[in-house]
Amino acid sequence: MRILVIGAGGREHAILRALSRDPEVTALACAPGNAGTATIAESYSVDVAAPDEIAELAVKWRADLVVFGPETPLVVGAADAVRAAGVPCFGPSRAAARIEGSKAFAKDVMLSAGVPTAHSETVDNPAKLDAALVNFGPTWVVKDDGLAGGKGVLVTGDFDAARAHALKLLEDGHPVLLESFLDGPEASLLCLVDGTTVRPLLPAQDFKRVGDGDAGPNTGGMGAYAPLPWAPEGMVDEVVDTVVRPTVEELARRGTPYSGLLYAGLALTSNGPQVIEFNCRFGDPETQAILAMLRTPLSTLLAAVANGELAEAPEPEWEPGAAVTVILAAEGYPGRPRVDDVIGGSDGPGVLHSGTRRREEDGAVLAAGGRVLSVVATGEDLESARAEVYRRVDGVHLPGAHYRTDIAARAARGEISAPGNGDLT
Ligand code: AMP
Repeated sequence: MRILVIGAGGREHAILRALSRDPEVTALACAPGNAGTATIAESYSVDVAAPDEIAELAVKWRADLVVFGPETPLVVGAADAVRAAGVPCFGPSRAAARIEGSKAFAKDVMLSAGVPTAHSETVDNPAKLDAALVNFGPTWVVKDDGLAGGKGVLVTGDFDAARAHALKLLEDGHPVLLESFLDGPEASLLCLVDGTTVRPLLPAQDFKRVGDGDAGPNTGGMGAYAPLPWAPEGMVDEVVDTVVRPTVEELARRGTPYSGLLYAGLALTSNGPQVIEFNCRFGDPETQAILAMLRTPLSTLLAAVANGELAEAPEPEWEPGAAVTVILAAEGYPGRPRVDDVIGGSDGPGVLHSGTRRREEDGAVLAAGGRVLSVVATGEDLESARAEVYRRVDGVHLPGAHYRTDIAARAARGEISAPGNGDLT
């Protein structure tokens, strides 16, 4: 099987690394890729927001399967273009990808499907903002109703800060979504979906804030671990039954069946799991941890989804133990990241590339983005996976880089509990 992966981050490097272990995979390509993906896949430059370019590359490269990493190509219809060109494809149609592309659309689907989620209101007129804010909060949750890479959300107990954030979004022409605050630990459940059949992967947790102890602004994600030792028994089945399957059925009922990876971002509240957001693709950095645990050949699962044959595919099987991913970010991230510094140790064990490029003159690997590397390790439990991942991080050198030192720490110490297995944290 010849597989073309679209994207350029740690998630795509993790997908490629898993695929490169499959005996059925005969060739791998990545577009546009990075310095890490280029060591295991052919690289092609492509505009990820140009569906026709991607479809043309898929045909020209004679791909048997195209796998989409990021949301950008999906929300502009790249999966539709690839399918129309006759190439099987892992990723939802433009219509189904709206589950991530528009938070208001996602809310509407959830309402129709009876999926538990925060109460919300869209505000597109500044004159109506104050009255709407009074109906929510404290705590206020103010979101950009569009794609913001996880960075458009403000959660605050400060009315003035909530108001200022909403006004800024409105000024920039973005409708604002106000939501009720969901308490309880967060979990990500990534599911393979082929239109009808749903197969959950290991539950994971990611760390969105830039600093230890969840300090500082939101980022694209600073680390993750899987599975969740604190998850109540039956949590995955409950989420599939109350959240994922009803959503998949509702999208099919609307004539826009979902095929690809459906990511449910959840708060495990005292009223049960509630949806914070849906994503229409593999999460980054959860995928780096989840795929480190996968035993089943990934190509078999992805091809089964693309061909609508997931019901006949094997159930995903997992290594025992746990995996932890730590993101090494460039100085300045999530603001303006410092780029072009030489990275040392970028080919070390468990090192996946996020924002890197290779300098042509001398082959040096340079930082080329905010999140530069994803370092992954597995272990018999979270504590040992943590110890190993930080040993590996120590082997990497990038001037000014920063990373969180507390990824999976509270879970490893048994300090997180969810309703259903103890007290709410
Ligand atoms: P989103 O971009 O919707 O995933 O939101 C980013 C982060 O903001 C989430 O991971 C949560 O930590 C937080 N968040 C979003 N919505 C809510 C909510 N309704 N209640 C509490 N926290 C939220």
